Amino acid sequence: MIEVITPNHHHTRTPFLPFAVPDLDESEIELVNEAIRSGWITTGPKALQFEAEFARAVAAKHAIAVNSCTAAMHLALESIGLQRGDEVITSPYTFAATAEVVRYFDAAPVFVDIEPATFNIDPALIEQAITPRTKAIIPVHVGGLPAEMEEILAIARKHGLAVIEDAAHAFPAMYNGAMVGNLGSNATCFSFYATKTITTAEGGMITTNDDALAERCRIMALHGISKDAWKRYTAEGSWYDEIVSAGYKYNMSDIAAAMGLAQLRKAERMLKRRKQIAESYTAAFSHILTLRAPVSSRGHAWHLYMLRLDFEDGRSESGGRRSERDRAWFIEELKRRNIGASVHFIPLHLYPYYKQTYGYNPLDFPIAYREYQREVSLPIYSKMTDEDVGDVVAAVQEITEQYSC
Ligand SMILES: *Cc1c(COP(=O)(O)O)cnc(C)c1O
Repeated sequence: MIEVITPNHHHTRTPFLPFAVPDLDESEIELVNEAIRSGWITTGPKALQFEAEFARAVAAKHAIAVNSCTAAMHLALESIGLQRGDEVITSPYTFAATAEVVRYFDAAPVFVDIEPATFNIDPALIEQAITPRTKAIIPVHVGGLPAEMEEILAIARKHGLAVIEDAAHAFPAMYNGAMVGNLGSNATCFSFYATKTITTAEGGMITTNDDALAERCRIMALHGISKDAWKRYTAEGSWYDEIVSAGYKYNMSDIAAAMGLAQLRKAERMLKRRKQIAESYTAAFSHILTLRAPVSSRGHAWHLYMLRLDFEDGRSESGGRRSERDRAWFIEELKRRNIGASVHFIPLHLYPYYKQTYGYNPLDFPIAYREYQREVSLPIYSKMTDEDVGDVVAAVQEITEQYSC
């Protein structure tokens, strides 16, 4: 057999452009140094300040800093009283954490398909998934584009359900003029993982306007102890405390919070840059590819730029399989040009654990399945230069031209 190698001219930039890079500079170093020099490195004044400033940034009454968004969602579900055997509605188009926190309670995640335009949970499909066991809904603001919260909150009110937002991608994001973090749900959970829109390396935040929920999260984040433990070691503190529940160890250190304070101050600038990059991409690709539809009343955080490859038009008899192969090829071609890319998300119902535990088939959630097969996430972060953006645009254009000839 002779393998035919067709000459394939392409432009390769150097060095490799990673898919995600945090925007760190002297300001993080300075604030982290301050924490180290102060001698107080775990939860203390910096964490309190970060909470206060974050609460102000999203206009929420309370902000509780924790060591991940996963921890934040675990605490939020605990404080709404989720029990074994309960059900929680969410979409399969998300990261592992959204559903695994439901499993922590031996409760069941019940998946509902997404809206094709936004990758977010489809509110029109929620009510038919509600049963007497349903306790809560977890909408995910995929890529930083807020879910249809007005409809979701109305459904929740009608059926007496809690709403916990997975806002891992959604700081700073807006919906109908209000910040995500203060949209009227029971709690909103943010992530400060290294690749997210602001980072503390590892970290998360719960925001809420509910005093009792905030208090419960605070207590459970630190061993179920009923007062701020750090006060025990200060002059005005005492040695006495009370364990009121078997809690967890989810508090955020002052080292992490120091980084968060520096990041918070840059959040607007970083968002502005991501927005610029998104606009450049959209302007360049709108002729050649089907893109996610912009939804005007929503303030996108632009954590992800989710390209939708339009491989269907008259090319694909076998449907999905073909798209998936073409998508893999597309990412390979980007890599050959030294550009990192990713896929968001492999829907949870396709994974062995959820498939085996709940007997899901790929087509149980046909929109999530179809969109997954043709999605490619491009680099979008404030450290990218205009040249970097130009390289991504040129590479995508080159690859699509190659595909159509
Ligand atoms: C990253 C992410 C999480 C988990 O965040 P951690 O801070 O790493 O726990 C949850 N949900 C979504 C959608 C995410 O992308």
